[in-house]
Amino acid sequence: MRLAVVGANGKMGGELIRAVKRIDGVTLSAAIVRQGSSYVGQDVNILVDGEKTGIIITDDPLPALAQSDGILDFTQPEASVMYAGFAAQARIVHIIGTTGFNPDQENKIQSAAAHAKIVKSGNMSLGVNLLAGLVHKAAQALSPNDYDIEISEMHHRRKIDAPSGTALLLGKAAANGRGVDLKKVGVYGRDGIMSPRQDGEIGFAALRGGTVIGDHSVIFAGTNERLVLSHFAQERSIFADGAVKAALWAYKQEKGLFSMLDVLGLND
Ligand code: NAP
Repeated sequence: MRLAVVGANGKMGGELIRAVKRIDGVTLSAAIVRQGSSYVGQDVNILVDGEKTGIIITDDPLPALAQSDGILDFTQPEASVMYAGFAAQARIVHIIGTTGFNPDQENKIQSAAAHAKIVKSGNMSLGVNLLAGLVHKAAQALSPNDYDIEISEMHHRRKIDAPSGTALLLGKAAANGRGVDLKKVGVYGRDGIMSPRQDGEIGFAALRGGTVIGDHSVIFAGTNERLVLSHFAQERSIFADGAVKAALWAYKQEKGLFSMLDVLGLND
């Protein structure tokens, strides 16, 4: 399978290129950067070290995608919406790891999935997707009258969206477990709220600093006990490996919008 990496000069872009080189069954077809980037025209090896690859970094997506079976995309929401459109035109695979979409952008991606094979997830790691399954089960078992759910996350100082896509993914798993809509029960920061916590709320707290790759904890706080389910990412390579795995899986599917739970067979 021929894979193009978009946002090739980003933190995840480099990880994705390394993962494509490392994993059997895939080859790098293109490395795409933002229009006018200073990386254009240079060999991909400038981004990941190692020997020259012969693949020249480009800012012209259409010719690059014409020779690709899929796109690996961890960029920014506007870029991912644009690439979902390209994937739909070309009827190819689009793996979206980007986070921070607004509802309008989510709808555009859903529309693109009428023609493209899209896998979108706020976290591509096996561990976090398993955690989501455990959170779903715990939320089913622990009544909102007895257990309060709070989700905390910490990421590096340069992260631009909050709460993280993974925290939202875990919040949705908890809300689904309780049979409620996260849009109705989610509370994002309690600054200025001068009243006690309401039963059934799912609270979020975001910390930023240093080089933390991604820590998440879902806390079920009851009377005299707390259950804490956590995941700590130690290397970005876990997300890149998951993205390549998702691409190989999606290559064999019909068009549609899928999650990592579908890819990992955890969606029962
Ligand atoms: P980053 O280092 O800032 O990289 C983002 C890249 O996207 C940059 O190379 C940027 O180019 C590029 N980009 C933005 N708009 C573009 C456009 N229109 N065309 C081409 N390239 C464009 O950020 P990161 O840490 O790699 O994270 C990227 C995204 O992935 C974030 O949304 C993050 O939350 C998410 N993420 C998801 C997972 C997961 O498992 N789902 C894991 C880690 C991160 P410039 O440098 O030119 O601006």
